[in-house]
Amino acid sequence: MNPQGKKAIIIGSGIAGLSSAARLAAKGFEVLVFEKNDFYGGKLALHVQDGYSFDMGPSIFTQPFVLEDLFTYCGKRFSDYFSYQNLQINTHNFFNDGTEILAYKGKANFVAEIKKKLDIDTSRLESYLLEAERMYNDIGKIFLDEHIHDLKTWTTARIPKALKALKWQYLMKSMHDYHTQKLQHPKLVQMFDRFATYNGSNPYEAPAMLSMIAHLEMNEGAYYPKGGMISIPNAVYQLCVDMGVQFHFNSKVESIITEEGKTEGIIANGKIFFADVIVTNSDVFYTYYDLLADKEKGEQIRQMERSTSAMIFYWGVNKEYKQLGLHNLFFSDNYKEEFDYVSKLQQPYHDPTIYINITSKMEPEHAPTGCENWFVFVNKPAVIDAHEDDVTATIKQHTIAKLSRMLGEDIAPHIVTEHTLTPTSIQSRTNSYLGALYGTSSNNRMAAFKRHSNVSSRYKGLYFAGGSVHPGGGIPLCLRSAKLAVEKILAD
Ligand SMILES: Cc1cc2nc3c(=O)[nH]c(=O)nc-3n(C[C@H](O)[C@H](O)[C@H](O)COP(=O)(O)OP(=O)(O)OC[C@H]3O[C@@H](n4cnc5c(N)ncnc54)[C@H](O)[C@@H]3O)c2cc1C
Repeated sequence: MNPQGKKAIIIGSGIAGLSSAARLAAKGFEVLVFEKNDFYGGKLALHVQDGYSFDMGPSIFTQPFVLEDLFTYCGKRFSDYFSYQNLQINTHNFFNDGTEILAYKGKANFVAEIKKKLDIDTSRLESYLLEAERMYNDIGKIFLDEHIHDLKTWTTARIPKALKALKWQYLMKSMHDYHTQKLQHPKLVQMFDRFATYNGSNPYEAPAMLSMIAHLEMNEGAYYPKGGMISIPNAVYQLCVDMGVQFHFNSKVESIITEEGKTEGIIANGKIFFADVIVTNSDVFYTYYDLLADKEKGEQIRQMERSTSAMIFYWGVNKEYKQLGLHNLFFSDNYKEEFDYVSKLQQPYHDPTIYINITSKMEPEHAPTGCENWFVFVNKPAVIDAHEDDVTATIKQHTIAKLSRMLGEDIAPHIVTEHTLTPTSIQSRTNSYLGALYGTSSNNRMAAFKRHSNVSSRYKGLYFAGGSVHPGGGIPLCLRSAKLAVEKILAD
C-alpha cells in the first residue's frame, strides 16, 4: 500500500497502539488515535497519592533494544526521548525458611550466589541457562519476530535450524517437570517456574518451551527506566506527537463500520471517522464482540483460556526496609497448591507468592523522605468475582500476615495510604477481558498459533496490535506486535 494521503485510525493508546501510530506516521500515513480514557498508556499508567508515585502496571523492563528500534524506525534518536540503566541485581528472593537469594545480573555472579546460598553443584544451572539462551535464539525469535500464521514463514532458511534445536520435551513436558529434571533443587525450580507468570501462565501446565523467558532476565538482564515505567509511554507519546499523530482522548470507539467485508471507519463520540486502515489495540475479544458485533468470532475467542490477572495493592509505607530492593519476591511454600488456586479458582491461597516493586529505592522522590512506595502484586485468576471486596480483603489479610512474618514485624501500622487494582478495575480501565494481564494464556503448546494474528482474515483493512494478539503480552512483545501489524499494512 502506498501510504501517502492514506488515513489510519488506531483504537486505543496502550503501548502497542502508540507504537503502531508512530510507525504508520513515519511511513506517511495521517494517523488518528482514539482513546477512551483521558490518559495514554493503558496498563502502563501512573498513580499519585499522598506524596507517593506508583507505576500502576508493568514494573519489569527487559529488551530495551525493541523500544529503541521504534525510535530508529521513526528516524529519531532514542536518547533524546528516554534513558535507562542496567540493574546489577534483578530480584531479591525470599523463602519461608529464611533463605535469601539475590538474582544477580550476569551468569557468573548469579551462579556464585547459588553456590554460596544453596551449596549445590551449579553445573546443571549453568547448562540450563545456556540451553534457555539457545532455545530463545534458535526457536523463540521465530515465534516473537515473525508472522507465524503465514505459511511462507515456515519455508524460510531459519526453520531447519529451529527444527534441529527443537527437543520433544520442550513441547511435551510442562515447564515445572522440565525444571525439576534440569535444576533439581526445589528453590531453583520455584525461582525458574515463576517465569511462566511473565506471560500469565501456569508452570504446571505451560510447555517447557516457555523456560526461554528466563533467558531475557537472567542472561540478557533487567533494566530500570529513568523516571519509572511511566517514562516508556511518555517517550512513545512524545514520539507520536513529533511524528504528527493526532489524539482524541475521552473518545471511546463504539463500533467499527464495515461494508462488504471491508472496514470503512469507526464511530466515536457519536461521529463517523473514515479511514483506509484500522489498527485495534483493544482486546481482540471486545473488538469482534462489541466493535464489530461479530458474535460468532467473539464467542470463539471468549472460549479461549485467559492469562492470569492480579490483585495489586499500592501501599505508601512510612518506613524504609533496608533488606529490600527494587524487585522483591516472597515465595510460597507450595507453588503447586498456589497455582491450583490461580488456575482452578479456589479460595485465595493462604500463603501467596508476593512480588513487591519499590521504585523509591531507585528514585527517592517517588515517596516522602524516609518512606517507600510499595507496589504489592499477588497472582489471581482472570475472573470477575461476585464478592470481589471480600476476596480482596482476604488476599490483603494473607499478604500482610505473610510479609509481617517474613520481615519480622507487623507491617500493617506502616501502611499509611492505599490504592488497589483488581481484575474488575483492570477490565474497566483498559477493556482487557476479565482483567487478564496478557490476553489469552500460553498454557497450551499450540497457544502461540491459536493467538489471533496481527491481521484480520474476516475484515479487509483491520489490523491488531497489543497484548491479546500475536506475539502476546508484556512490553517487548506488544512493541513487536505493533511492528508486525504495520509490516502487514505496508505489505497489503
Ligand atoms: C499489574 C500489571 C503488571 C504487569 N507487569 C508487567 C511487567 O512487569 N513487564 C511487562 O513487560 N508487562 C507487564 N504487564 C503487561 C503489560 O502491561 C501489557 O502486556 C501491555 O502494557 C499491554 O499493552 P497493550 O498495547 O496491549 O494495551 P493496553 O495497555 O491493554 O491498553 C489498551 C488501550 O486501549 C484503550 N481502549 C480499549 N478499547 C477501546 C475503545 N473501544 N475505544 C478507545 N480506546 C479503547 C484502553 O483504554 C487502553 O488505553 C503487566 C500488566 C499489569 C496490569
